Amino acid sequence: MIPPGYNILKRRYQLRTHSNIMKTFFKNILSSLSSFLFPASCLICEEYLHDELFVCRSCLSNLKLHKNTEPEYIAVFQYDDKIKKLIFELKYNSKPEIGEILGKEAAKHISDLFQNSNSILFPVPLHKKRIKKRGYNQSLYIAKGFSQTLKLPIYEDMIVRSKNNVSQTTVKSSNRKSNVSGIFRINTSSIDKNILFIVVDDLITTQATTKEIYRILKENGYNNYFGLCIATSGS
Ligand SMILES: [Zn+2]
Repeated sequence: MIPPGYNILKRRYQLRTHSNIMKTFFKNILSSLSSFLFPASCLICEEYLHDELFVCRSCLSNLKLHKNTEPEYIAVFQYDDKIKKLIFELKYNSKPEIGEILGKEAAKHISDLFQNSNSILFPVPLHKKRIKKRGYNQSLYIAKGFSQTLKLPIYEDMIVRSKNNVSQTTVKSSNRKSNVSGIFRINTSSIDKNILFIVVDDLITTQATTKEIYRILKENGYNNYFGLCIATSGS
């Protein structure tokens, strides 16, 4: 026996399904129309993009490389207006994919350094409140880009950010060390102690954040660590 109201419910379901199909259909048409009328342009040179996302191939392959002299980290690109623009869009304009694009491009220049290495990529953690506000951790997206080319695993929960400190960019250089002191804590120490930790960040300026992570790693018996970032504005 058909329960009372069954046919009404069935009809409502059919109408809703039909309405969802129509909504998706019109959404796709609007999206195609909008990219036809307003084609996306490169964030750097403003030329129209073809099959690229956010930045054209030419601008990406012409990013200026940084001359690395620092013993504890590698910054792949020179911090200039182009990188500044891309990192700003990555962090403050809801474009996490830029992290992946930059990580993949940067990895091409350092792939020979990490071949067959017993290493893991560790993105600098954000506090959960910051993740909630931004929607994602930009360093994780950069690590994803590195990971695709370098074929290294990502361990994102090894250390957590337990204190929500104010952004380093708003703090004077001389106060940055104290601003990050004690903000991280180890989450698990069951990983092979001989592994090389590649601490991934977007920018390294005074190294205060990476050094605080190195301190926690050392305290827990991990003595192999190295920083890897997209750019440095430090030197
Ligand atoms: Zn361009």
